[in-house]
Amino acid sequence: MLIGVPKEIKNHEYRVGLTPAGVKEFVTFSHEVWVQTDAGNAIGFTDEQYIAAGAKIVVDAASIFASADMIIKVKEPQAQECKMLRKGQTLYTYLHLAPDPKQTELLVASGATCIAYETVTDNKNGLPLLAPMSEVAGRMAVQAGAHYLEKAHGGSGTLLGGVPGVAPGKVLIIGGGVVGTNAAKMALGLGADVTILDRSLPRLRELDDIFDGRLKTVFSTVDAIEHYASKADLVIGAVLIPGAAAPKLLTREHIKNMKEGSVVVDVAIDQGGCFETSRATTHQDPVYTVDGVVHYCVANMPGGVARTSTMALNNATLPFGLALANKGPKQAMLDNPHLLNGLNVYKGKITYKAVTDALGKEL
Ligand code: NAD
Repeated sequence: MLIGVPKEIKNHEYRVGLTPAGVKEFVTFSHEVWVQTDAGNAIGFTDEQYIAAGAKIVVDAASIFASADMIIKVKEPQAQECKMLRKGQTLYTYLHLAPDPKQTELLVASGATCIAYETVTDNKNGLPLLAPMSEVAGRMAVQAGAHYLEKAHGGSGTLLGGVPGVAPGKVLIIGGGVVGTNAAKMALGLGADVTILDRSLPRLRELDDIFDGRLKTVFSTVDAIEHYASKADLVIGAVLIPGAAAPKLLTREHIKNMKEGSVVVDVAIDQGGCFETSRATTHQDPVYTVDGVVHYCVANMPGGVARTSTMALNNATLPFGLALANKGPKQAMLDNPHLLNGLNVYKGKITYKAVTDALGKEL
């Protein structure tokens, strides 16, 4: 099969669909891989590395779209990319179609087989191609929080780990899923005093086992949020209610009661945010202050560490990508219901219920 990897064209997107190591895997299985010039250059994957891995470097995206059997990308295709997709071609990337009727229409019109990373499942009720980005965002949340706690960046001048003789900073994490757990690991690694809230008792039990007494697990109530937020130096919002907007758990009143110069990082901002005072920010202009509390609400945190994110994403997408190439898309999906769950558009029809529901169409 001929695999095509175009350079991402969305604003400030530096990730790339395949790393050189990923290319080598496909080549080992006798597939041909075409990569667009400079596709990974911004994150240190040079054309020479791709050539050494067995890829052919192609100057323009149009030639790739015209010839490849399968296109591997990161972000949803932009309008000009959708128009280059063809019947019989497979697109394997993040799509997020439910809120995007325009893209959906273009993919339906293309006749291509479109597999969305975000709806591929695993046998633990998880979303294996979304999890790596939650891992990245969770770990980054603590890094961002520590940075903005510094005096020069608007914070209270608190070092999360403290030093011998000085108590560590207090970190409150609301939501103990993938983001929350990874944030907890980083905060504990820095030596912070960590409390994690969740609405799920089974999850709190798991966290208690994982961290073995090194952090406090507390059932998430209004009272608990009020109490722990007022004492925290850093609050991380990491809740998810599948299919719904994030609930506003930290209110303006709670923010008012926080210490001057404390920091809140709302990772759930891509679902509308779980703090009442949150609004989406960008990597170019990541923070603003409300009532003396620094807010970091970047909606695409993994984009800030595009090199790590690309490698983490490749690790997760590669096994499914190889199955699609080795068996052919149809057989690969028939053999694996979790991969089939990724199918959003097939030969001119929407095949994913949440997308038809969101767009008011029939399956
Ligand atoms: P997850 O499903 O693994 O975890 C969510 C957790 O929230 C669950 O354990 C759930 O029990 C808990 N929860 C639900 N309601 C709660 C409440 N009222 N109080 C406390 N906990 C509650 O989800 P995840 O992968 O960790 O993602 C968390 C959020 O981060 C999502 O909104 C996701 O979209 C977002 N995210 C954002 C970025 C970014 O760049 N900003 C990147 C990745 C993920």
